[in-house]
Amino acid sequence: MATRDTGRTGPAAPDVVVVGGGVIGLTTAWRAAQRGLATVVVDPRPGGGAAGVAAGMLAAVTELHHGEETLLALNLASADRYPAFAAELTEATGVDVGYRACGTLAVARDADDRARLRESHLLMRRCGLDVAWLTGRECRRLEPMLDPGVRGGLRVDGDHQVDPRPLVEALRTACRSVGVGWRREAATELLVSGGRAVGVALSGGDRLTAAQTVLAAGAHSGTLAGLPPEVAVPVRPVQGEILRLRDLPGRPPLLGRTVRAVVRGTEVYLVPRVSGELVVGATSDERGWDTRVTAGGVYQLLRDAHELVPGIAELPLLETRAGLRPTTPDNAPLLGPTALPGLQLATGHHRNGVLLAPITGEVLADALTGGELPDHARPFHAGRFAGSTEARVPS
Ligand SMILES: Cc1cc2nc3c(=O)[nH]c(=O)nc-3n(C[C@H](O)[C@H](O)[C@H](O)COP(=O)(O)OP(=O)(O)OC[C@H]3O[C@@H](n4cnc5c(N)ncnc54)[C@H](O)[C@@H]3O)c2cc1C
Repeated sequence: MATRDTGRTGPAAPDVVVVGGGVIGLTTAWRAAQRGLATVVVDPRPGGGAAGVAAGMLAAVTELHHGEETLLALNLASADRYPAFAAELTEATGVDVGYRACGTLAVARDADDRARLRESHLLMRRCGLDVAWLTGRECRRLEPMLDPGVRGGLRVDGDHQVDPRPLVEALRTACRSVGVGWRREAATELLVSGGRAVGVALSGGDRLTAAQTVLAAGAHSGTLAGLPPEVAVPVRPVQGEILRLRDLPGRPPLLGRTVRAVVRGTEVYLVPRVSGELVVGATSDERGWDTRVTAGGVYQLLRDAHELVPGIAELPLLETRAGLRPTTPDNAPLLGPTALPGLQLATGHHRNGVLLAPITGEVLADALTGGELPDHARPFHAGRFAGSTEARVPS
């Protein structure tokens, strides 16, 4: 077995081929190989998808929206698994994945924001979540660099963070350590024979056959040629722009925990890393496959973040990026077996793919070895949009 994930390594006819080496595909491949399945990941640019752009908030509670109460249970279950997941990865690879149990403060700047945040608080309480309402003064006691105009907030002690870039790096190393093979090519077509998926055709012209194929190509999952009509993969790209700033050397960090808000109807968050990086995100736009960063997006993020924490104006701006969230009609992932034997899905994680990586890897490994999803993942089964008019994918 080769030791680097360049070019082509691993068996010619594995048990499992995973299409897509993002945070979801890599976690799935790692867990499948740990269960003894010979696994190959196909991706021309592993780690080059949305995970390399993402903020890495593990925001099960502060990402709760009306109508997404079922998803909350999955998000909380994955958040619970994160400390052990991060520790296992670090132990296996020596890579610090930046897991930080820092908590989150969701704040309101004006009366409208406060009314909206009160609504969120009610929803959280209805869902049995223990979240404390703070006055503006209490918020500033926790985070002294907040703008004096902050009118109140929610202290969410369980919403933490991880750094997605070292996380993906660690996952690649962990995959290699358990013998996962690599094909640094794009999958161009799902191969179907005798009424079952038998692998994929590759951009270099080869055919890679496998007993089971997992489609984990992020926002591109629905575009793979050869998907039969009975397998609906209604995943569309939702674009997000994001910035990286850095704390000033020799000065204390601006923030100790993630701060987020809805300012004039749009969400903004600031995620402080131990390294001194401060991530400011993220816009959310339906713009097809466009990943250009726009002046308007950068302006909106800086303006809104500045209203919460004026001190950011002094910080160097290191990076502006845009990525594509893989999004389904109900904002929840598509997991496990499809109507086509031999084909499983691990996609559609929208805003929470980094958070949901641990539980996705686990339930996909269960489904690959046992043929079905565990009970707690059944609401997210891959067949739930089959035959639905929502199952259209943009070209
Ligand atoms: C701005 C922004 C901020 C975000 N912030 C957070 C956050 O704070 N917390 C959180 O949990 N989530 C966040 N997300 C969401 C998260 O990034 C995604 O849900 C997650 O990355 C999805 O993982 P994935 O592996 O399915 O897709 P990706 O990470 O996009 O990876 C898909 C992979 O598939 C490969 N691929 C595509 N087509 C093919 C093909 N034909 N053949 C082979 N390989 C292929 C790509 O090269 C890529 O490597 C954010 C996303 C964005 C855009």
